[in-house]
Amino acid sequence: MNPFLELRNDAEFERLRSISAELGRDPLQVQGPGGNTSLKRDGQMWIKASGTWLAEADTRDIMVPVFSGRFVAALQSGDEDAGDTARFLADVDGAPALHSSIETSVHALLDSPVVLHTHCVATIAIAIRSDAEEIVRDKLAGLDAVFIPYAKPGLDLARAIMARATGSTKILILGNHGLVATGQSAGEARDRLFEVSRRLEPASVDLAGEAQAAFVRSLVGTDWVPAPFETTQAVAFHDGLLEIADGNSLYPDHVVFLGPGCVVAREGETVAEAARRGSAGRSARKLVICPGKGVAIPADANAATLTLVRAFGDVLVRVAPGSDVTRLSDQQENELINWDAEKLRQALNTSDGATA
Ligand SMILES: [Zn+2]
Repeated sequence: MNPFLELRNDAEFERLRSISAELGRDPLQVQGPGGNTSLKRDGQMWIKASGTWLAEADTRDIMVPVFSGRFVAALQSGDEDAGDTARFLADVDGAPALHSSIETSVHALLDSPVVLHTHCVATIAIAIRSDAEEIVRDKLAGLDAVFIPYAKPGLDLARAIMARATGSTKILILGNHGLVATGQSAGEARDRLFEVSRRLEPASVDLAGEAQAAFVRSLVGTDWVPAPFETTQAVAFHDGLLEIADGNSLYPDHVVFLGPGCVVAREGETVAEAARRGSAGRSARKLVICPGKGVAIPADANAATLTLVRAFGDVLVRVAPGSDVTRLSDQQENELINWDAEKLRQALNTSDGATA
């Protein structure tokens, strides 16, 4: 039998599907089409297809076959064309005709059979801090965890991982990005992933009250609505959170689905006016914060955008007050906005939760 089919028929593949769906339905781990999982053996790997949702892993066919051994050899030899992961897709009967995840290199480069990657909000709240590496060393002691400074997902991230990870690495904390956990089995990788989330979760999370009724009323009849998440609303009511929110983006999926950073409305400015000012000369921004009043998003925000609106609050309320954070630069934001691979992932998520 084709070794890819043999691997897909293995009981471990079913376990990976069910754990993938569990992670995909947990908004504190995965938002929209973010995150990805894989299972590999002898240089052959099944990995989540780009643009699909892990939440659907147990009801849809979202895994595609990749020659991971050949891909790693190309990455290690410095082959500049290795960024084109389509070259390493295998032709297997019944596999969906989709591209592999833009983060395929992360999975291929780690030796373990199972690799899980999520945008865990407790991890991101640490991974955006300028002292993230020290915190990882301290809080994840004994877990064989390695901190990888921010790099654009794809070839740049692959190079950053090759520079730091070793054969014994079991966990990666990706700077300004997320969490990677590995295991000999899907169950082992899952346990490791939740152990990291648990260790990085702050003792308490401070939330503000509901957005003020006047703010909600002011949006009636406009193209904007209050962000429907308590943690996202909290950002408008805490100066410390506002300070961290106000500036360039903190991780890639924010840029891809919400536009660069956010707009903080000035005194007397309406949400629409603030959005127009903030988006002038840049790609549209979908998050407007009115200090002391609330946070607004476009009324037509799709399911993928909504999950990132929630993550914005879920991450920020976990950042220790007064932390010094590392932001993506203008150039790093622009290279995500203008990246064809990300345009594909956006296109697959333009309608309400649909994946073409
Ligand atoms: Zn990621």
